[in-house]
Amino acid sequence: MCDFNVLYYDDWGYTAHCGGCNRMQVAFGTVVFSFSGHEFREFSSVIRAQSEKCASCADCPVKNMHIRTADENMLLAFSPQEIHRLNDMLQQAFLLREAKQILQ
Ligand SMILES: [Zn+2]
Repeated sequence: MCDFNVLYYDDWGYTAHCGGCNRMQVAFGTVVFSFSGHEFREFSSVIRAQSEKCASCADCPVKNMHIRTADENMLLAFSPQEIHRLNDMLQQAFLLREAKQILQ
């Protein structure tokens, strides 16, 4: 049975960990992702790299950053502004999750 623990949330979305199935749920805008711990780290790493790429245009609202998914018919499109918001959320949730695991 799912038992979500919200690690981070703001107006753009949230990141939660499920103690029941040990999966991470990331909601951002109208999209919700469900990740294993490994997939969450991989996704966070991709978003962090994208965020570093567009550090000089952080307020740009144009959705010109595309991330491939496992489904070749679907791309995720973000603006630099969204990438920075998502990166902040993922990094904070990641740190909180790591801290909670150490304390368990
Ligand atoms: Zn669950």
